[in-house]
Parts: sequence; C-alpha cells; structure tokens
Amino acid sequence: MRIVLLGAPGSGKGTQASRLKKQLEVPHISTGDLLRAAVAAGSPLGRKAKAVMDAGQLVSDDIMLGMLEERLTQPDARNGFILDGYPRNLAQVEALDALLTRLHQPLDVVVKLNVPGEEIVGRCEIRFKAEGRADDNPEVVRKRLQVYAEQTAPVADWYQRHDMLRAVDGVGSLDEVFQRILDVLPGDRLAANG
Ligand code: ADP
Repeated sequence: MRIVLLGAPGSGKGTQASRLKKQLEVPHISTGDLLRAAVAAGSPLGRKAKAVMDAGQLVSDDIMLGMLEERLTQPDARNGFILDGYPRNLAQVEALDALLTRLHQPLDVVVKLNVPGEEIVGRCEIRFKAEGRADDNPEVVRKRLQVYAEQTAPVADWYQRHDMLRAVDGVGSLDEVFQRILDVLPGDRLAANG
C-alpha cells in the first residue's frame, strides 16, 4: 500500500503514520524526520536546511526530491510506504508523480487529516513545551500555517480533482482518528497487505 498523508502542521500525521506503519508493515517516510536527521548529523545540507526550517519556510524542491528519491529506492520501500510531509506544493506533486511513475509504484490513496486552525495552534504549543522543536514556537507556527494554506492546500485540491483524496476528521482520540483512516483505505489493497 502506497499512501500520502496530508494535513497541517500538528494535525497528527506523524502519530497516525507510526500506527499505520505497524498495521500495514510498510515504512513511515517523513521528510521532516529526514531533514531533522540531516540537521542532527551536521551535514552541509543539514546546516542549510536548519535555517529554512526554523523560519517556517519550505526547503528547496531540489534538495527534497533528492532526499526522497534516495529513501524511496531503499529495499524496504518496495512493498509500499506511508509518505508524510511530501508533497507540500504543486511542484512537488509533479515531481512525486514522475518519480513514482519511473519506479512503477503509483500511489493508492491520499489521506488528509482535517483539524481546525485553533486546535492546531494549541497542539503545537503543547508540542513546543514537551519537545522544544524550534519551529513549534507560536510565531513560527503561524508562518507554517500560512505556508500550508498558500502552498499545501492546493496539493489537496489537486488530489481531490484526481479522485485520490480521502478526507478524515482529525479531531478525536488517537484510536478514533486511526479507525477513520483505516475506514478510507482501499479495501482490496488492505486485504492484499501490499
Ligand atoms: P509539520 O508536518 O509539523 O509541519 P514536518 O516535520 O513535516 O512538520 O516538517 C518540518 C519542516 O521541514 C517544515 O516546516 C519545512 O521547513 C521542512 N520540510 C518538511 N518537508 C518538506 C518538503 N516536502 N518540502 C519542503 N520543506 C519541507
């Protein structure tokens, strides 16, 4: 099963993706995590990315595509994946489409977690206090929400027009939201677990 998870910052993509990973036995590929690993490793790319991330902006499409291709072509992604954090703008939608076509691995479904803005701000505040992620401070969260509305919302519209989007209410207990996600996954792919 090949899934893209969409949703605003703090909508719960990461949490739900790690549950889905266990259920579907496919890797959870988070571009945010890949970037944070590059930052932690102190590579030149990581140093460049850090400043961009701390400002709540998007890292360049070229860098992201290179990282993504490297990850998607690892053996564990051959049977599927849950992609979280990509695509984040329309150029990335096209890049992903071209990459997956080349790899003969078309997407099965795009799941979008819907969470209202006020709830998002509150969740990021809690995460900021708990984890101290620099980009969760309230000012940067506002910037990330703005980037999301301007650049990432059109991504959902694109998948909607291509009849691939399944929207899920992201407010509720973790179990409730997880069940809602399972309910919109294509049943034939679930049965095949592939
Ligand atoms: P969230 O989903 O909570 O916004 P992520 O961990 O997915 O957080 O991403 C954190 C930051 O990493 C983003 O604000 C952005 O700077 C960068 N980033 C992640 N994915 C991408 C991407 N596909 N394109 C550009 N930048 C990205």
